[in-house]
Amino acid sequence: MTVTLLGTGTSAGVPLIGCDCDVCTSDDPRDRRDRPGAMAEYDDGRGHTARILIDTTPDLRHQMIRHRVHEIHGVIYTHAHSDHILGIDDLRRFNAVMDRAIDVYSERPVLEHLYRSFQYIFEPHRNVNPSFIPQLITHPVEVGVPFDLHGRDWTPIRLMHGRLPILGYRSGGFAYCTDCSSIPPETWPMLDDLDVLVIDALRFRHHPTHMTVDQALEVVEQVKPGRAFFTHIAHDIKHADLEPNLPDHVRLGYDGMTIELDE
Ligand SMILES: [Zn+2]
Ligand SMILES: [Zn+2]
Ligand SMILES: [Zn+2]
Repeated sequence: MTVTLLGTGTSAGVPLIGCDCDVCTSDDPRDRRDRPGAMAEYDDGRGHTARILIDTTPDLRHQMIRHRVHEIHGVIYTHAHSDHILGIDDLRRFNAVMDRAIDVYSERPVLEHLYRSFQYIFEPHRNVNPSFIPQLITHPVEVGVPFDLHGRDWTPIRLMHGRLPILGYRSGGFAYCTDCSSIPPETWPMLDDLDVLVIDALRFRHHPTHMTVDQALEVVEQVKPGRAFFTHIAHDIKHADLEPNLPDHVRLGYDGMTIELDE
């Protein structure tokens, strides 16, 4: 499986609108961070490549163009914050190219949020004009219960984003844990024997709903994945300054980074 980090920035992206700080004006491309999302690609067991999105950020359109993606076979959502869902409308281009609907997975409260926020997609009969809207088929998932997505099992895992329970996902030796400030006790065993952990590391200062760099390093210390990659990074962190100070098996993610897994 190959995982591409499509975006590694925080909710407002980096550079921030209206900020002239050292990072927001950096010419290092690794300091330009889209809103956070990822894409997983793997053989579906029938000779085709399955391509799955984790979240659809407001930057989805240019991410898909940048990576020349023509087909998306499924979307899994972590939670319904705007930086993770607002690219949902761009999925309609994949419907048009593939001439079929796209399967969308998350837990019920997230799906209900999508139904409310995007009534024009989920209640199309209410639209005044029949219009060019995404064709999506929603599937509720439950924490700890694996589901098959084009030949690979994905298991939702519980993370806490401040007081909001959200989902991370594990598939084989890969786990994606964005937008978390703590990991509840029942989740730790589900992070055993990882090859790759992608985890939230917002900045150095405390934040009520995200991990700091030090908290993320503590999680890495406890989980002991083969490799760890930080994401959801704010403009407080300059890539070239922090990365040399991280342990060798811990890297700062950057937009467009690809991570190869042996499975
Ligand atoms: Zn976020
Ligand atoms: Zn800035
Ligand atoms: Zn969030």
